Amino acid sequence: MNEIRRDYILNRWVIIAKNRAKRPQHFVQKPIGSREKFCFFCPGNEDTTPPEIARVEEKGRWVIRVFPNKYPATEWHEIVVETPIHGEHLGDRSVGHIVQVLKMYSERQQAIEKEPRVKYVSIFKNSGKMAGASLSHSHTQLVGLTMIPPLIKREMRAFDKDCPFCRVWRDEMKGNRVVYDDRYTAAFTPFASRFPFEVWMMPKRHVRTLDEMSKKELNSFATVLKEILSALNSSLNYPPYNFVLHYAPEGKDFHLHLELMPRLSRFAGFEFGTEITINTMPPEVAAEHYKSEIGKG
Ligand SMILES: [Zn+2]
Ligand SMILES: [Zn+2]
Ligand SMILES: [Zn+2]
Repeated sequence: MNEIRRDYILNRWVIIAKNRAKRPQHFVQKPIGSREKFCFFCPGNEDTTPPEIARVEEKGRWVIRVFPNKYPATEWHEIVVETPIHGEHLGDRSVGHIVQVLKMYSERQQAIEKEPRVKYVSIFKNSGKMAGASLSHSHTQLVGLTMIPPLIKREMRAFDKDCPFCRVWRDEMKGNRVVYDDRYTAAFTPFASRFPFEVWMMPKRHVRTLDEMSKKELNSFATVLKEILSALNSSLNYPPYNFVLHYAPEGKDFHLHLELMPRLSRFAGFEFGTEITINTMPPEVAAEHYKSEIGKG
């Protein structure tokens, strides 16, 4: 039977369509070639981007590069190019490199937050055309906003004496939606997943921002992110996805987490008309799939 489920925290509903449930193989993507003839993000083309803000170098060459978006959504809109290699994905990089990428998100988030009018910095990644990436070269975006976004406010409202995210990860690590569980990081397919293969991951310690994470926590977080992205890439042939990092607005309590949303389904009339989503991949099946794929690595 189909099941209607409510999100742990938000008043957000999903129909888990077991009568239309699909096998993981159904979601395997057809190969796509490189889309663009010229890439603004590749080494050698640095003069085609707005002036550089930051970089990480290895052996005299940049491996991570940050600059303003040419077509900014707000006055504070930056691009973090995560690899010099065109066609390489974030999950293909080493854990050490992913740690440096996470540190760069944190550094830029804090720098943008210093702007007096900025109340929050949205950190998100679009990977693949169907996930909204206009360029295929691996990158993440940071957008400074003059308000705390409504979604973050709704998540914040669930905090009272206890942290809802601490409760959620503890419950989930006992159940059948575990994707990865080590000493520092919990990853699971959420009970009311809106997207096939949706994953949430978070540090187990009640950490508010990336900056508050210890070296070991960051290392674990990068390892888990790499494992999950690699499992998706190898088993579903590089599906399009978004991820968002949700962290504490300045001075507020929160629990840092990353929400990863593979874009293998489309919102249609029902979703737009009701704000209820239909998901044809039960999160319990998705978790099994991740676990078997991660075991292979
Ligand atoms: Zn490129
Ligand atoms: Zn917490
Ligand atoms: Zn969130």
